[in-house]
Amino acid sequence: MKAIFLGTGTSAGTPIIGCCCPVCASTDSRNRRRRTSLYLEAGGQHIQVDTPPDFREQALEYRLPRVDAVCFTHSHADHIFGFDDIRRYNTIQDQIIPAYASQDTLNDLQRVFNYISTERVTGFYRPRITFHAVSAPFSIGDVLVTPVEVEHGHNTIFGYRFDAGGCSLGYVPDCSAMTDAAVEAFHGIDVMILDALRLKPHLTHLTLEDSIALLKRIDATTSYIIHLCHDLDHEETQAKLPETCHVSHDGLTLEW
Ligand SMILES: [Zn+2]
Ligand SMILES: [Zn+2]
Ligand SMILES: [Zn+2]
Repeated sequence: MKAIFLGTGTSAGTPIIGCCCPVCASTDSRNRRRRTSLYLEAGGQHIQVDTPPDFREQALEYRLPRVDAVCFTHSHADHIFGFDDIRRYNTIQDQIIPAYASQDTLNDLQRVFNYISTERVTGFYRPRITFHAVSAPFSIGDVLVTPVEVEHGHNTIFGYRFDAGGCSLGYVPDCSAMTDAAVEAFHGIDVMILDALRLKPHLTHLTLEDSIALLKRIDATTSYIIHLCHDLDHEETQAKLPETCHVSHDGLTLEW
């Protein structure tokens, strides 16, 4: 399994527009965070998780060769507004690409991107997508994908667990609380990637302290925090984490 952290920042990215705080002004490249998304290679499949507004820049910088499927966690702007750029992979692969999400997320995607279909229209380059509403484990080739419901403020959204070839990864970029069942769904996984927005409480996200507490219960072999805002400096935050837990950064690549 191979995972590339394409973006690790919250909805506004870091630096945020018009801010001169020490993190936004930092020369440490790990404090420069695009909007959160992940590229997963497993079982011969190339799976894109969410398509943030920065997706085009991410695909260029990390030279993403293909996209066999897209999994969406939810329909907030920072997770879907790069979806149109998937069309390039329709052209490269000459294939229709499947997208998986909850029914609610699909409804929003089909409303916002109402020109997307499976049709090839001569003279236009539009994404060609089949939409699949999922609520239970499903397969993308040899990869078993399990949607796991988590709380994100007043909404319930998807995290995902991916299993292939005896390797496992959990991905929850936006989350304010997890049920015991959700913790159990990720328990003992190889790699767990979890929201940790900042130190101060927030209505729709975990604080660093909340995130560490949940990661202890999930007890993954290795854990990474993601969706960080400009309150969190990479180096300072890393010093506060337990030994098996790390601050992610854009471009970080794991292979196991
Ligand atoms: Zn988000
Ligand atoms: Zn700042
Ligand atoms: Zn969100």
